[in-house]
Amino acid sequence: MSIPFVPKEYYYIECHDFRLWHSKDELKSQIQLIIDAGVYAFEYVCSKLKFKNLRKIEICLYHSNNQAVSSLNRHITGSMAMAPYSTDKGGLIIVQSATVDPMNGDLQRMRRILAHEICHLFVREKSGSSSVLGDSLKDMKVRPWIDEGLAEYLSWRCIGKKNSILPEDVEYIGDLDEVDLLLNDFSSDRRASAFHTSSRLVEYFIGEFGILNFFESMTDLSAKTELPTTAYSGSQKACAC
Ligand SMILES: [Zn+2]
Repeated sequence: MSIPFVPKEYYYIECHDFRLWHSKDELKSQIQLIIDAGVYAFEYVCSKLKFKNLRKIEICLYHSNNQAVSSLNRHITGSMAMAPYSTDKGGLIIVQSATVDPMNGDLQRMRRILAHEICHLFVREKSGSSSVLGDSLKDMKVRPWIDEGLAEYLSWRCIGKKNSILPEDVEYIGDLDEVDLLLNDFSSDRRASAFHTSSRLVEYFIGEFGILNFFESMTDLSAKTELPTTAYSGSQKACAC
């Protein structure tokens, strides 16, 4: 069996809701931490979105950053996770071991990160989208600001917090096309501002219409070029324009 981006020599453990791939050198405690975090995050996201996936979820735990970089064919930092693959054949989330970065051994952080990535997989499946790392999101039917905003919204609440990584004085971006472009530009120093903007907008829509209506209307909302100005309220203070 071959899953894209998973090293051929990796083993897997069949869990109830996903399959975990790992190196033979991986610490048992790290494997267990990712399983525990994955089960917790999966249940949280399923219950909030009232969604049951049909696409099988694979989680790959890279033992070294070298294995991550060579498997993904791109440079990523040691703390980074992502969902590089989601098609009708299944979905993949990648994380890295605590041997790469000690932050990857923090249970609460891994719950949050896995909830974020599981949310991305659910958004793809729900909207009939497909994505494979490097395809420029050409088969995505949901705009990046909705995709990232919802993932941020749920992942922080999964551990009982609101998004706290963003400083209060971060720039607020009024142009949605720019937000989308920045979210996909991993080298931009304004990417955090785009996250901030998308999180605030999604919070607004969920506050107004409820999370289930928001999840149902992601593709309709993606077609809109203009949002109600009230969507930006509460964020104007942080506007740098
Ligand atoms: Zn994301």
